[in-house]
Amino acid sequence: MAKTKIKTEKAPFIPTTRAVAAHSASASLKPFSFECREPGPNDIVIQITHCGICHSDIHQVRDEWGGAAFPMVPGHEIVGRVSHVGRRVKGFKVGDGAGVGCLVDSCRKCDCCKSNEEQFCRKGPAFTYNGTLMDRKTPTYGGYASQIVVDADFALKIPKSLPLDRTAPLLCAGITTYSPLKRHGVKKGQQVGVVGLGGLGHMAVKLARAMGARVTVFSTSAAKEADSRRLGATSFVNTRDEAGFAEARTRLEGSFDLILDTVSAPHDLNGYLELLKNDGTLVVVGVPPTPAQVHHFSLIGGRKRLTGSLIGGIRETQEMLNFCARHKVASDVEVIPASRADEAYERTLKGDVKYRFVIDTSTLPA
Ligand code: NAP
Ligand code: ZN
Ligand code: ZN
Repeated sequence: MAKTKIKTEKAPFIPTTRAVAAHSASASLKPFSFECREPGPNDIVIQITHCGICHSDIHQVRDEWGGAAFPMVPGHEIVGRVSHVGRRVKGFKVGDGAGVGCLVDSCRKCDCCKSNEEQFCRKGPAFTYNGTLMDRKTPTYGGYASQIVVDADFALKIPKSLPLDRTAPLLCAGITTYSPLKRHGVKKGQQVGVVGLGGLGHMAVKLARAMGARVTVFSTSAAKEADSRRLGATSFVNTRDEAGFAEARTRLEGSFDLILDTVSAPHDLNGYLELLKNDGTLVVVGVPPTPAQVHHFSLIGGRKRLTGSLIGGIRETQEMLNFCARHKVASDVEVIPASRADEAYERTLKGDVKYRFVIDTSTLPA
């Protein structure tokens, strides 16, 4: 009997990568192509299917944090399917769902890397875009692109039950909100406040709710009230309504265990500190371009804590993805073609997003 010949040869790796890029802080995103590095034995190649648009992409493309390197291919909420697996890689096979967040490498030797907090690497991690690899020479390009070559140690496994498009935002918005909620011990019965109902904020609501907390949303957009309840919040405060906000502040003073502030623009923090219980914690994750002013009395009375949080390490990101699969949590997304990324930036700046734009990378120009 003739044996069926099993096809074993792999599809060839083609380094040419389709993308959209910003060429200056004021330019729109334009078609761009670049050559990915040749995958090594520790690398996988991911054919990107979707990439979320994080507000940090806008801050960086517009050089609001300084040090922008152009051409810039933004995007650090990357998901897709594995197409190549290096010979030393364990845990991934061709066809698996895989993701990349904000980090693609770190020194792996410092105390932070050794304690699985690569985001705080003492040498500075290699960020997914607008940075360089650890050789400090090779520029990194992000996920508004057709593929990415990444060391498998910095790639995430996407649980099979999670849909790829709705999972992309978990790689930044998800981990950035999960990490502080987890670290500060959010649990059943606690009162959590979420300031700003955007990409991060809506994930914070879903995750805090999944952890068992009662969630109050503080928003400048009255129109988001119904959504906030659908996402899992029990109450909503419109911070644009001066009288209503003043009444809510009196009513809610001293009642929150934790408040997570995700706002991307300058705003007052002192009012939120008043809402915390004694020893309660205000965590800022939003990064407005200008510094905040905090009155010392806001911290002294009631021993309030003001802290921040930066994404999360790779191990914790995997833990978050697994948590989301267990609790059936994913992002609310509007999937768009790459040609509408500029429009998505404008709409995000206006708060007109429900609740994360995600680029379908199959629409990238050839
Ligand atoms: P986003 O989707 O644009 O959401 C930000 C939300 O903030 C808006 O939807 C809006 O919510 C609120 N807001 C905007 N302007 C405001 C203003 N002038 N006053 C009060 N509220 C305002 O942004 P995102 O992607 O969630 O990112 C939020 C921030 O987190 C950005 O600064 C981003 O760079 C940063 N970030 C930090 C980390 C980290 O690791 N720490 C990671 C990712 C992103 P309402 O309409 O509900 O008011
Ligand atoms: Zn981000
Ligand atoms: Zn390190």
